[in-house]
Amino acid sequence: MIQLMVSIRTCLGCGKKAPKTSMLRFAWYNWHLMQDNKGFVNGRGVYSCDNESCIQALVDNPRKVAGALRCPAIKAKHKPLPLKVSDKTAE
Ligand SMILES: [Zn+2]
Repeated sequence: MIQLMVSIRTCLGCGKKAPKTSMLRFAWYNWHLMQDNKGFVNGRGVYSCDNESCIQALVDNPRKVAGALRCPAIKAKHKPLPLKVSDKTAE
């Protein structure tokens, strides 16, 4: 059996590990946590399962997000983090 090189990412919401391709990527862009599955935003991203509770956990944990992105500009005062989720039907 051929082992494919699948990148595993950890959901910042629930801590579950899953293949990168099955997760949502978010990046900090223009003072929003923006869904960025296409890698539009350079730099670090955070990952979440594709479900509302994990995304919610993400925006409710600005400190966690700031740590994961190494972006100290994200402060707890931004709780909940402003979120931009792309329209899934457009994919
Ligand atoms: Zn999750």
